[in-house]
Parts: sequence; C-alpha cells; structure tokens
Amino acid sequence: MNVKNILIVSDNNTERISELNFIAEQFVSEKDNIDAIIFAKDGEELNVKIHKVYGIKELPVNSVNTVADLAKNYDLILTSGYVGASLGGILVYKLGASCVFGVNEIDYDNFIFKHSAYGDKAIIEYKPNKLPLLILIKERNFEQSLPSYENSEIEWVDVEKAVEVVEEKPIEKEVELDKSKIVVGGGRGVGSKEGFEVLKKLASLLNGVVGASRAAVDNGWMPHQYQIGQSGTMLSANLYFAFGISGATQHLSGIKNVKCVVAINTDEEAPIFKRARYNIISDWKEFATALINQLEGEKNG
Ligand SMILES: Cc1cc2nc3c(=O)[nH]c(=O)nc-3n(C[C@H](O)[C@H](O)[C@H](O)COP(=O)(O)OP(=O)(O)OC[C@H]3O[C@@H](n4cnc5c(N)ncnc54)[C@H](O)[C@@H]3O)c2cc1C
Repeated sequence: MNVKNILIVSDNNTERISELNFIAEQFVSEKDNIDAIIFAKDGEELNVKIHKVYGIKELPVNSVNTVADLAKNYDLILTSGYVGASLGGILVYKLGASCVFGVNEIDYDNFIFKHSAYGDKAIIEYKPNKLPLLILIKERNFEQSLPSYENSEIEWVDVEKAVEVVEEKPIEKEVELDKSKIVVGGGRGVGSKEGFEVLKKLASLLNGVVGASRAAVDNGWMPHQYQIGQSGTMLSANLYFAFGISGATQHLSGIKNVKCVVAINTDEEAPIFKRARYNIISDWKEFATALINQLEGEKNG
C-alpha cells in the first residue's frame, strides 16, 4: 500500500505525539508528508515540530466535522488515547476509511497491523486493502520519535462549542503504577495485608511502587488501583518483582512491556518463571526480608 501522507490526531501530549510520529516516520521518509491535528487546552502553546499543525482549542466531540474535513486528503490517520477513542469511529464513518483499532504492533514492511486478544493468548493480524486508513494505537507499545521539523506552520482552527465542560476536577493519584520504573508486585502467595507492608518497605527502599495481582486485590489486601494486568494497569517498568504471583495470562498481559522480571515463588513449575529473567525459588518473605536487610545495610553505611 503506498502511503503518501499522514495525519496525526492527538492531544497536546509530547509522549503520545512522539509515539504516533515514530509510526508515521516508518511509513514516509519525507517529514513534509506528516501533518497533525492537535487538541490543546486554553492557554496552552503548541510546540509541535511537525510540517503543518492544526491546533484546536476545543473538545474532540465538538470538532468532528472540522477534523473530518481536514483529514479527508490524507492516506493514513494515526491516533491514540482519549482523542482517538472520541473521534476514531466517527472519522472512519465520515471518511469512508478502513480501520484497525487497538493496534499494539505493526509489521511496516508488509503493512500488517496487529493487536493482542483474549488476554494476550492470541495476536490478530490485519492487512488493510484500501486507503484512507485510520489506525487507533494502544498507547506505550511503540518507540517514540520527537518531531523535529524545522519550520512548522501552525494554524488555529475555530470550532463550534456544542458541548462544554462545566467543571474539571483533578483526581489525586496515589500511585503512578503505569509510569514507575521499579514495581514490587505481590500476589496471593503474600498471604495478607501485613505481607504487603513488607513489600511497601522494599518498594520504598528501591524508589519504586507496590502493585498487586487480582487475587491480592480480591482478598482486600490492596485497593484496585494497584492491580496489574488485563483489568488493571499495564506497566512500563524496567524492573518488576513478582512475589507469590503464579503468572496467569491476565496478569502477564499487564507486564508484557516490562524489561526485567524477577519472580519469587515456592513452586518451581509456576508459569511466571517462563516470563521472568531471574527465577528465585523461595518463600517470598524470606527473599523480601533479605533484600530489605541488604538495602538498609547499604543505606546505613
Ligand atoms: C476476565 C479476567 C480478568 C482478569 N484480570 C486480571 C488482572 O488484571 N490481573 C491479575 O493479576 N489477574 C487477573 N485475573 C485473574 C487471573 O486469572 C488469576 O486468577 C490471578 O492473576 C492470580 O493471582 P495470583 O498469581 O496472585 O494467585 P495464584 O494464581 O493463586 O498464585 C499464587 C502463587 O503464589 C505462590 N506462593 C504461595 N505461597 C508462597 C510463598 N510463601 N512464597 C512464594 N510464593 C508463594 C504459589 O506457588 C502461586 O504460584 C483476571 C481473570 C479474568 C477471568
């Protein structure tokens, strides 16, 4: 499929834009062929170094017709996040485009778009046969490439305010599981709420955060916001400790982007050992306590 030009549709978030830009750069070699529609908040500046940038200071839901109009001359539309979720389906309809949603892997040479399904037990591959094509990606599955076009042209576009925000209340997030680079996870094998206090101590010594399997959450040892996995949070950690976690597929799908997994389990047949780089066959508490003592010893001199 010969993709000549690409439109990125995103909010004004550098990481999201850079991830979409990385994908765009795999399809076209000339940066002149990549444009963007960026949704910004009132008072926000656009500092997006892309060839042509259309800035919209409105909600995506208020901008459907405008975006469809701007998008109609592009072969490939790349989007993600809440902007993609708000606009993807309607744009496909308005543009008569083909689409693949939830993409987490791309075979660029063969123009094949993949997403995992059934709790990561299967990968479904799609080959679009016609352009325009809209791709809604699953965030944090691709590399990032910060746009670097020298002389971007920025054009602010007005749209009608059909729906307005009456209030925006920030939610204080206690945990940043998805962003933390070190996560100490505990499962049913940890056995109690008190067990998680030990893991919290270890996490704090490592400058990391604690996470939990669904079994631990269902037992009331940790709140749901700490759950890792298919129905919890997807990690992007460099280092993940799995204490007393068996490694069910639903849990593994939440750690598929983790670089190094250290699993501590008494059962040497536990499936988590197939995913882990370091397999520790041990009682979780013995190993956690030994690590804490070691780290405290180092800290105290
Ligand atoms: C639709 C759906 C969505 C789901 N979503 C999620 C999800 O998002 N996240 C998630 O985690 N699960 C999810 N699950 C549940 C998942 O299938 C498993 O049931 C769950 O992950 C098991 O948690 P666990 O590994 O802590 O417990 P278990 O599977 O019971 O494993 C406990 C492990 O601890 C080990 N152990 C026991 N004692 C010790 C000890 N003293 N020291 C060291 N190891 C010990 C055992 O050998 C065992 O391997 C989902 C299920 C469904 C059906």
